[in-house]
Amino acid sequence: MERELFLQELRKLDLHGKDAKRLYNEISSLAMKYIQASEKAKRCAHYLSIEFLIGRVFYNNLLELGVLQEVSEILKEKGVDIALFEEIEDAALGNGGLGRLAACYMDSGAAVGIPLYGYGIRYKYGLFRQKFEDGFQKEVPDDWQRFGDPWSIRKEDEKQIIRFADMQVNAVPYDMPLIGKRVNVLRLYQAEGSENAEKISGVLYPPDDTEDGKLLRIRQEYFLSAAAIGDIVRAYEKRHGNDYKYFAAENSIQLNDTHPVFAIPELIRVLQERGQTFRSALKIAKQVFNYTNHTILPEALEHWNVRLLKKILPEIADILVKINTSAKYIHKKEGYTPQECAAASAYVHSRRAFSMANTAVFIANKINGVAEIHSEIIKRDLFAAEYAHHPEKFENVTNGVAQRRWLELANPELSALLDEQIGQEWRVHFEELNKLNAYTATEETLAEFIQVKGKKKEQLFRYIEKAEGVKIGGERIVYAQVKRLHEYKRQLMTAFALLRLYYDLKEGKLKDLTPSVFLFGAKSAPSYFRAKGIIKYINEIIKLINADTETNGRLTGVFVTEYNVSYAEKIVAAADVSLQVSTAGLEASGTGNMKFMMNGAVTLGTMDGANIEIVEKAGKENNYIFGAHVDEIENLRKGGYDPNGFLKEHLEWNKAVKTLIDGTFSDGGEGYFRELYNSLTIGASWHKPDHYFIFRDLDEYYQTILRVNAYYRFRADFVAN
Ligand SMILES: *Cc1c(COP(=O)(O)O)cnc(C)c1O
Repeated sequence: MERELFLQELRKLDLHGKDAKRLYNEISSLAMKYIQASEKAKRCAHYLSIEFLIGRVFYNNLLELGVLQEVSEILKEKGVDIALFEEIEDAALGNGGLGRLAACYMDSGAAVGIPLYGYGIRYKYGLFRQKFEDGFQKEVPDDWQRFGDPWSIRKEDEKQIIRFADMQVNAVPYDMPLIGKRVNVLRLYQAEGSENAEKISGVLYPPDDTEDGKLLRIRQEYFLSAAAIGDIVRAYEKRHGNDYKYFAAENSIQLNDTHPVFAIPELIRVLQERGQTFRSALKIAKQVFNYTNHTILPEALEHWNVRLLKKILPEIADILVKINTSAKYIHKKEGYTPQECAAASAYVHSRRAFSMANTAVFIANKINGVAEIHSEIIKRDLFAAEYAHHPEKFENVTNGVAQRRWLELANPELSALLDEQIGQEWRVHFEELNKLNAYTATEETLAEFIQVKGKKKEQLFRYIEKAEGVKIGGERIVYAQVKRLHEYKRQLMTAFALLRLYYDLKEGKLKDLTPSVFLFGAKSAPSYFRAKGIIKYINEIIKLINADTETNGRLTGVFVTEYNVSYAEKIVAAADVSLQVSTAGLEASGTGNMKFMMNGAVTLGTMDGANIEIVEKAGKENNYIFGAHVDEIENLRKGGYDPNGFLKEHLEWNKAVKTLIDGTFSDGGEGYFRELYNSLTIGASWHKPDHYFIFRDLDEYYQTILRVNAYYRFRADFVAN
């Protein structure tokens, strides 16, 4: 980038009387004039993902361009605070971890100079925006484009036609530059051509409880897959014409979970159309694709009904049938037992559906889980048959997060302190942080770190007061549990612990409690009844606690509204204790845990996902680990788990849990709380009581919360760890 030219022009820009949106668009467009995508390399990696949870682009791009500081100063001279652009809301083209991972990979590829190209969907509406009404979550459409989209370029001349049996759709790319050592491109496709066509890029994860809903999901997934494959093949053909023998050597395609798995039959279809045989196309596909698994939760493993597929994508359905036949043949030849053949089958007879995960596993050159424990679990359970015969295909790639957004941008104060101690190289090569291992922090440095934390807390509290109307006074230890709302993540367990803390405090049992604040942030899927009940329940508890003037100087709760990437940046920088308390075996990796850790929070959590690797590196003795490990959970699942026995034996916990039904709190007669209570004590048609083993871990959780609270008093020790 011609940095000086950009800064010169910015200095000349007249800012008078312009609002945030206008300035945002003008300054961004000015920067875009000087950004040129790097030439596409011959060998490229492609990342296909149904979600990219990018967050605010403005600051991040200026940071990557190396002009954030100067822009801030120039604006200041002109009387504009750069924080003004916080009015520009995040584009949330993703749900949570999976989409944020995709965004971090894109960021890192550019930063270290790997030619990595992202493919996704340019949803008109991203993930809903969250409001609370009387403690209930309400969803508002996220019309993110109302702020303009100055960081994308519409590439009209590179549009493609995507064909379904009953309609044709234009896929029009919008290119976003990803800035670093290279400038890569994230290409998001918008569906156009008719009202029905536009629906395909209308919303993220449209409800799929009806047949029409399922068809729309299939259309979305195929739309993304076909547009990406069309683009990749076209770029290849520019170099090699119809000679596909270099295709696999020059292209790799990473499937971020199963949503883009249609890219496999689509590549085969396209190659066949160009005269390749099925066999040779299959062979190419087997070298090109890699697959990342993100979950073992059965409800999240995609299966597409063959009848539905035939209706709108008959050719793709035929190719999937052929892939299945080929898999069967090869499995037999390789000595899979009949059980193994069935378990690894791409087609699942009982469902009359294709398993997108098994299809991916059969084709993929490499398959990875997203943390060591998760990769072990998929080898042992989900994909055991394939692993028994093809161990070489399986790898672990623990999730990561980009330190540029999650440390540099989120916490410039701590970043400056790190620079001072170990130089700046960590901003690109995070391993540089290892230098801190050899290093014994002086009292002075620790004091500086404590000061930084204090400053980040002040900033966060000020923001919370403005955004949520909750005032948090004085010195506090900040506990944070921020992530999507899901039963396995066990926000409900934190709710019980918080309530118990309040009762114990009230009864004078916690004389020395360090004044604490519990931060929650989470969106629930709009149709996820229990998750919505948990949000309401936590909000009720918080209302009770915050209203009590006898205790609210020592204990406060906040459920932040509209938890998103920008909020996360503020919270991870300020928190002291990162709550990561999933049922062991169920959180594939987590990435929130890493963001907190790199900002100097300790992990209070279970041995699950990447927590395990985090505490291995950071020292188990320096973190707060509790609860059942995965093998114990698996044993309990087989039998002998007695949640009602636990409640009988622990009257204090019984009291807390009973507040779901004893009238302490109201869910406005909606039945949420009763249903939650039943899920814990009776179970449901599809699960036993307390399916996520909250009562196994609850008391240990509480004791650990108190332990970290007590230890926090020795501040220098606490942070030295
Ligand atoms: C990092 C992040 C997540 C993922 O958090 P986990 O704790 O790993 O589930 C979800 N949402 C947002 C906005 C994030 O920034």
